[in-house]
Amino acid sequence: MDDCLFCRIGRGEIPSNKLYEDDELLAFYDIAPQAPVHFLVIPKRHIASCGEITEENSALVAKAFELISRLTKELGIGSFRVVSNCGEDAGQSVPHLHFHVLAGRSMEWPPG
Ligand code: 5GP
Ligand code: ZN
Repeated sequence: MDDCLFCRIGRGEIPSNKLYEDDELLAFYDIAPQAPVHFLVIPKRHIASCGEITEENSALVAKAFELISRLTKELGIGSFRVVSNCGEDAGQSVPHLHFHVLAGRSMEWPPG
């Protein structure tokens, strides 16, 4: 998707503070952190949201969660929250699948 913000970040056209990158995935720090640690994991290929995960692309989601597990260990984070907002009412502002990883403070439940 030519004009999708996270596709553009994935292609390196827009700079980001990267934690990890390979051919398929990118992890980078959120520009407006909501916790002392707040990074995003995205597939580089365009998937609009969790609502578009299929048998054909779900291996990427599994890899994203493997990466989250690895990165949190490397960062020494034992307690963290993974969030994916799907749709406007759920708070999704960028229509490209991403997993927020938040840590470094206590969190409340239920989320607002
Ligand atoms: P959503 O609101 O879709 O769940 O999450 C989108 C996230 O992307 C937000 O937390 C927002 O701060 C972050 N974000 C939006 N634009 C940029 C950007 O240009 N660079 C980075 N690093 N994060 C961004
Ligand atoms: Zn995209």
